[in-house]
Amino acid sequence: MLQKASQFLRQANLIDGEWVQADSGATIDVVNPATGLKIGAVPKAGKAETRRAIEAAERAFLTFRKTSALERSKMLRRLHDAIMDNQDALAALLTMEQGKSLTEAKGEVGASAAYVLWFAEEARRTYGDVIPSPWPDRRILVNKEPVGVIAAITPWNFPSSMLARKIGPAIAAGCTAVVKPASQTPYSGLAWGALAEEVGIPKGVVNVVTGAAGEIGDELCTNPIVKKITFTGSTEVGKILIQKAASTVKKVSMELGGNAPFLVFDDADIDRAVEGAVTAKYRNSGQTCVCTNRFYVQAGVYDAFVEKLAAASKKLKVGPGVEDGVQQGPLIDDKAVEKVEELIADAAAKGGKVVTGGKRHELGGSFFQPTVIADATTKMRFAKEEIFGPVAPVFKFKTEEEAVALANDTEYGLACYFYTGDLGRAFRVMEGLKYGMVGVNEGLITTPEAPFGGVKESGLGREGGHQGIDDYLDTKYVCIGGLGL
Ligand code: NAP
Repeated sequence: MLQKASQFLRQANLIDGEWVQADSGATIDVVNPATGLKIGAVPKAGKAETRRAIEAAERAFLTFRKTSALERSKMLRRLHDAIMDNQDALAALLTMEQGKSLTEAKGEVGASAAYVLWFAEEARRTYGDVIPSPWPDRRILVNKEPVGVIAAITPWNFPSSMLARKIGPAIAAGCTAVVKPASQTPYSGLAWGALAEEVGIPKGVVNVVTGAAGEIGDELCTNPIVKKITFTGSTEVGKILIQKAASTVKKVSMELGGNAPFLVFDDADIDRAVEGAVTAKYRNSGQTCVCTNRFYVQAGVYDAFVEKLAAASKKLKVGPGVEDGVQQGPLIDDKAVEKVEELIADAAAKGGKVVTGGKRHELGGSFFQPTVIADATTKMRFAKEEIFGPVAPVFKFKTEEEAVALANDTEYGLACYFYTGDLGRAFRVMEGLKYGMVGVNEGLITTPEAPFGGVKESGLGREGGHQGIDDYLDTKYVCIGGLGL
């Protein structure tokens, strides 16, 4: 396993085209969550190294901004091909540091490549406008220009694809980047540096630093050279970054936490709903921002849904991600397991019924049983808090209005799902839900062609779709006068 992944196992930071250690020589250990064993160590960089990375990105920007859209598109195509040529090695690395099954890891790496390809295409379509002028002797043009140096900070749950959605549009737009992957999964982030180097992206265009989050984050947010911060992670940290970025009025894009509801109406195809529920709940062991946090099921099909979901949950194969047929790997660490245990204990104390699972898995470590809890109520903590684990609480509702109100009763607004066989209801409910993304009779909806992102405290901006490049571009209005009549 290590051998397969080792080609991309970089234990250094990429700054200005050089692989370097932290100034202090300090490192952070990286652990395989499936075994608890150390994989290796990466530099614990701080302010000074981050500043150098930002300055390198600024120097690179002077020439990179002048490359043609076609040239940058070709670079991204080469990057796409390199990712796909190395899909197995990159997936092995991802499973080793993150824990997800190899099947899911290959899927994530494939998604990274798909985003890069999408932005290779979008690079050539950053059209401006020629606007009919109100003056006979003047012309009005609107140009799109790269914002400059961008900074990206990403989480551990999708360590490859979350960077694809940031590095892809940055290069497409002609920006240069300093990226900081999560400390628990830095290798998939450092691999982006290795890949960029391999395909000939000029030095300084992609810089990767690992280390002290607060120090690196402060420098990225307050350094006036950085023109945009793009962050994927918790709402709590996102709010800190927005505040810090305010001091130099940077653009901010925030992909933050979610609390996805999953509604099942009496008229739904229950088997299809259960199939969608398993994907929307247990993917990445329940550790995705778009994972279902709350199932709301109409009274007429409640018992049948709970029974079928419990049966499907029980069947999931839990184990180390590298083993054949595994569908659910370990959670990221023991803290994540403790949180899940707390939420289950809280629900049980308030009348929740554990229908299946509910405990640490017999494999030990941070493995946890897929869990279904019936008779969930709004008093239980998971009605408000992100679970980030394989626990499916099922609430009962009576009417459509009640279901929509319950689904919207959260400060989050990222993804939501609902199942119905009634077309009128599909439109009414879709229009009533205050979310950035809605799956109707589908439990997995992410794709590069569509805009991914949330409303309310789930974030600002969109990644993917034609919208995904917008935040990397400035709009410049040009008025050309004195043209005569
Ligand atoms: P997190 O604790 O917010 O960490 C995310 C990143 O921020 C990591 O790189 C972390 O670095 C860094 N960080 C932490 N504190 C910081 C600070 N004070 N200043 C600057 N950077 C800081 O989130 P997580 O636990 O890794 O990820 C889970 C969260 O991400 C969930 O809430 C999930 O919903 C959300 N998420 C959202 C999306 C989306 O698209 N909306 C996608 C995936 C995940 P260290 O690792 O070094 O601490």
